[in-house]
Amino acid sequence: MSKQKIDKLLIGTNNKGKLREIKSLLPKDIKIYSNSVFNLSSPTENGKTFKENSLIKSRYFSQKTGLICLADDSGLEIDFLDKNPGIYSARWGGKDGDFNKAIRKVYRELNKKDKNWKDKKIKARFICALSISYLNKKIACVLGKVEGYISNEPRGKNGFGYDPIFIPLKKRKTFGEMKPSQKYKMDHRYQAFKKIKKFL
Ligand code: IMP
Repeated sequence: MSKQKIDKLLIGTNNKGKLREIKSLLPKDIKIYSNSVFNLSSPTENGKTFKENSLIKSRYFSQKTGLICLADDSGLEIDFLDKNPGIYSARWGGKDGDFNKAIRKVYRELNKKDKNWKDKKIKARFICALSISYLNKKIACVLGKVEGYISNEPRGKNGFGYDPIFIPLKKRKTFGEMKPSQKYKMDHRYQAFKKIKKFL
């Protein structure tokens, strides 16, 4: 399977931000299908790691559609919060996936831990596991990371999720202030994609 060229691929996500970014990374000669065409809801993500959750998704969506599926599981790890929200990054936004709510929770947790957290550098990283499955068979599973820190307040309206509070290393702007094209060239999904593209 891995040596054969993939010409059709399902992107297993219900997150529009991720779909847009993954589409921009894929070779243009692959016909891409998205979940919305099949009206699929997401499976329960009960894995303990990003890799496990990404495999749960790619296997589930492939089995539902009969197509080879590329899925990701990603999130933000904040060292000062014992690596939370981590695999719970989406869940911090509540049932409606409200990203503003998730960001408020980050600041609330930082304040709980230390009122003076703004005087410190709060190290964080985005992590992305990407996997490709065909039915219940794993074709590939890789991990990508981008290191950075948490800004003292949310900045910028671009992107999604925690983008307005994450400043990558050696940059001043948050991902939320960067143009999508700039973010896509350095982020965790791009790093994971570099490792998985040989399977496509
Ligand atoms: P899941 O992989 O669908 O479980 O959700 C991952 C969650 O992590 C998203 O809902 C976002 O809150 C967050 N996240 C993942 N990647 C990014 C990103 O590139 N920017 C901002 N937030 C992200």
